[in-house]
Amino acid sequence: MTVPKPSGKLKTRPSKPALRLRARAPARAASRKTKARKPAGRARSAGTVHVLSRFDLVLKNGRVVDPANGLDGVRDLAIKDGKIAAIATKIPADRAKKTRDVSGLLVLPGLVDTHGHIFEYISGDFGLNADEVGVHSGVTTVCDQGGPSALTINGFRKFIVEPSATNVKCFISAYLAGGLHGHRYVQLYGPSGVNVDATVNAAQKNRDIVRGIKVHAEVGGYTRWRLEVIKLAKEISRRLDLPIYIHLGRMWPNVDEKDVDPGLVIDELVPLLDKGDIIAHPFTHRPAGFVSASGEIHPLIFKALERGVRLDVGHGSHFSFQAAQIVLKAGIVPFTLGSDLHGNNVGKVRVGEGPAYGGETSPFAYSPTFSLYTGMSEMLALGLPEAHVLKMVTSNAAELLGMAGEVGSLGVGRTADISVVEIRKGKFTLTDRSNVSVKTDKLFRPVLALRRGVEMTLGSPLLPERERVAA
Ligand SMILES: [Zn+2]
Repeated sequence: MTVPKPSGKLKTRPSKPALRLRARAPARAASRKTKARKPAGRARSAGTVHVLSRFDLVLKNGRVVDPANGLDGVRDLAIKDGKIAAIATKIPADRAKKTRDVSGLLVLPGLVDTHGHIFEYISGDFGLNADEVGVHSGVTTVCDQGGPSALTINGFRKFIVEPSATNVKCFISAYLAGGLHGHRYVQLYGPSGVNVDATVNAAQKNRDIVRGIKVHAEVGGYTRWRLEVIKLAKEISRRLDLPIYIHLGRMWPNVDEKDVDPGLVIDELVPLLDKGDIIAHPFTHRPAGFVSASGEIHPLIFKALERGVRLDVGHGSHFSFQAAQIVLKAGIVPFTLGSDLHGNNVGKVRVGEGPAYGGETSPFAYSPTFSLYTGMSEMLALGLPEAHVLKMVTSNAAELLGMAGEVGSLGVGRTADISVVEIRKGKFTLTDRSNVSVKTDKLFRPVLALRRGVEMTLGSPLLPERERVAA
């Protein structure tokens, strides 16, 4: 297959990292220098050199990329007390208790996954272990999409957010049932399963972890209730001043075998959306209305993007190279990536197994295995510039979650959540669920993950074999 040209609408900045940093924030750059020297440097008294206090760790010679600050260059990065303490062209090794040479590797803000399913046990076979999706896969922040609801958010906090090493957030489910067994039982997800007051109340009490509201605009639901549920979700969203995240792509069967054009879903959906709301799965191979059966982008999608609606790839069992090509060729570039990893698409539940599926085939089964890193490699193979791919999982993802002040950037004084990443060079084949393959010469792979400055093991069984680093 041919690779589309990257979108003309995509804005890439020229990389003049050092200049840009200085030009933008002279005061901060200066205080950064003194900060780095004072606590960690040497003081002379009576002719003796003392080491006052040293950095806990210095990552040396890595290619530090911090899209939020326009930095892309070889730097040393120092960590102390779980925070980023200095970023400089050279930090002497004797100022650190420990150094790691990361020459030839990318040093990135800890990667942010905008779309995971990590409400383990409570959401049945669907929920994965947060740290297997997160830190053990080289991803330091994971946002669960629609697992917890007004009824279960306290359990999400107690059993998932608090014990996980990963920084865990969520988009609360618009439905009282939440994402049980991957929204398997359609009767739970109509308007009668939504309680606006209860969900607003639960989100208000959990503002620190709730970053938005999750809801679905798909054909099967549309044949039952049109978009009544989206209207209720929008009411929750407006009252909380948080975005809604909309799943596109068939999940439920049509009622009474009604035949409906999925484009009707988009017709009614787009007028309901506000700036900052998110449409997911633009690259889905399932009927979604985003792309018509004849390969045309729904015209209202362009209107939505003009209005500031964002797109999240939401890889999951949706991702299709062919669908992605059509969308990218039209000049539409998703803002964020989002793995959409869940129990059904990583082979945790084999096709046809699991209590929710009886003898039926899970519509979410996916093969081969994938990760957020696989998605990044696929975006690169599709022709998106590397700078944009890195933004999708750092600064853009942080912005989408309303967390730009906390994660997705490498500023001095910030929490030291860091992903060290290798771009492997060679000849690789990437294959999607429809068995369409693309050749590529670059593959992203996690090498090291630091969460609050602490080194995490990268042994997640969810990582595809070729993305694992030999122990
Ligand atoms: Zn999902």
